[in-house]
Amino acid sequence: MGKVYLIGAGPGDPELLTLKAARLLALADVVLHDSLVSREVLQRVCSNAEVIDVGKRCGRKLLTQDEINALLVSYAASHEVVVRLKGGDPSIFGRAGEELEALRQAHVQCEVVPGVTAALGAAAAAGIALTDRRVASQVLFATFSRGVGATAMDWGCLTPNTTLVLYMPGPDYAEVARRLSDGGLPSDLPCVIVSGATGAQQEVRWSSVGDLATEERLPAPALMIVGRVASRQIQEIGDAFWSGKTTESALQTISVS
Ligand code: SAH
Repeated sequence: MGKVYLIGAGPGDPELLTLKAARLLALADVVLHDSLVSREVLQRVCSNAEVIDVGKRCGRKLLTQDEINALLVSYAASHEVVVRLKGGDPSIFGRAGEELEALRQAHVQCEVVPGVTAALGAAAAAGIALTDRRVASQVLFATFSRGVGATAMDWGCLTPNTTLVLYMPGPDYAEVARRLSDGGLPSDLPCVIVSGATGAQQEVRWSSVGDLATEERLPAPALMIVGRVASRQIQEIGDAFWSGKTTESALQTISVS
């Protein structure tokens, strides 16, 4: 029986791989990767390894999650080092939980090797600090579901000192803007869209909750950072920013030391 490593490939730049990830990629017998994993990272994989793309893109599913789970279990029965390689960090919107559960149930040894999640790559790309102590005391990594039966995001947990990182915002920025405004966020609250963070095609677009609806769409993968930190002039949007901008009782100013 081999061992399965759930490895975070980081947001794109291969230099953001951990030393452990790079060592295991060079040792791997088989690598099952998502489409988010960059070509440069895949070049680090041992040349003798079997490399399988189990990713899905544009809604076109290549393999179901159950099929991927079954593949991991069966490869572990015949290979020593099985790598499940995921963009960013495996535990952030990466379905690591389902895969770990399936592996444990099948009594397959497994280990998670964390990676740099896209939120951190995007903040670095934009040159902002997610918890800039002048305006933020917490970060929320979130997404929202779409389609039939989609549940509304509970924005009640946002405070003026929250930085919201919205993964998988999708191409409909007007919908995102509406959801943010409906959640009580002021229209001049800054927002930055980062596409292809840390990769060669990286793009950064500065906007606001109000302007988001009409922004030109950036290529996938992209995420949004929403909050007072999402600006290059944080000094100008200090403590007074929220006064009178919202009626939500949840959005009370909390002092940050
Ligand atoms: N496990 C991954 C996230 C997978 S969900 C991680 O930890 O980063 C996929 C979403 O992540 C994309 O829709 C996008 O919102 C975001 N994402 C992934 N890589 C990105 C990148 N290089 N730049 C910007 N956003 C990225």
